[in-house]
Amino acid sequence: MPKNTITILIIEDNFPLRELIRSSLVEARYFTAEAGTGKEGLAKIASERPQLILLDLGLPDNEGTELVRKVRRRSTSPILVVSARDSESEKVAALDAGADDYITKPFGMSELLARVRVALRHGLDIPASKSAIEHEGLRMDFVTHQVWKNGREVHLSPIEFKLLGVLMQNAGKMLPHQKLLNEVWGPSDTDQTHYLRVYMRQLRGKLEADPSRPRILLTEPGVGYRLYSR
Ligand code: CA
Repeated sequence: MPKNTITILIIEDNFPLRELIRSSLVEARYFTAEAGTGKEGLAKIASERPQLILLDLGLPDNEGTELVRKVRRRSTSPILVVSARDSESEKVAALDAGADDYITKPFGMSELLARVRVALRHGLDIPASKSAIEHEGLRMDFVTHQVWKNGREVHLSPIEFKLLGVLMQNAGKMLPHQKLLNEVWGPSDTDQTHYLRVYMRQLRGKLEADPSRPRILLTEPGVGYRLYSR
């Protein structure tokens, strides 16, 4: 879908911030729709059919997480939660309620635009069945099960390969612990977050220049992991 046919709905009650977001999105050639309350937002979802929804969690008329749930029931488009609160439990609650990602205030417009691009990529049903993926110097071949970093082959165990594969297929996107555990180990192991810690440490040992300061395999504290994306 070309950029200039994409509508992004901004649900935000802080008018100066909404205006700043709107002008940045317009400059990046998106169409925008705006709402200042949850109620207005739900009406705009019906009338504007946005391809992405930016949702402030602190609106005058609605409890944040409950609104995420209502939005999710009305639209399958990605929901990017904009939150002033830096609380982990609130982020997890918003993601559990159906949000795709979150961004914490204050944020820069270039960061917001990057998150918007990632969220839209995943909302547009790009086929996941590619035989090879390249991202930021990493290359994975899903047919031969080989991995290269900057042209040099790296040997991964089957679990490490699967875990990196999920991260590569969702590059730039925040992946909650439960989602990663479900994709790699299956639905009966979604509470085994220590598996992730162990295997992420191993992957970092093999892929990061300095595993104690990861630049590729990023931790979202208390929430999940994200593969670095420019
Ligand atoms: Ca607000």
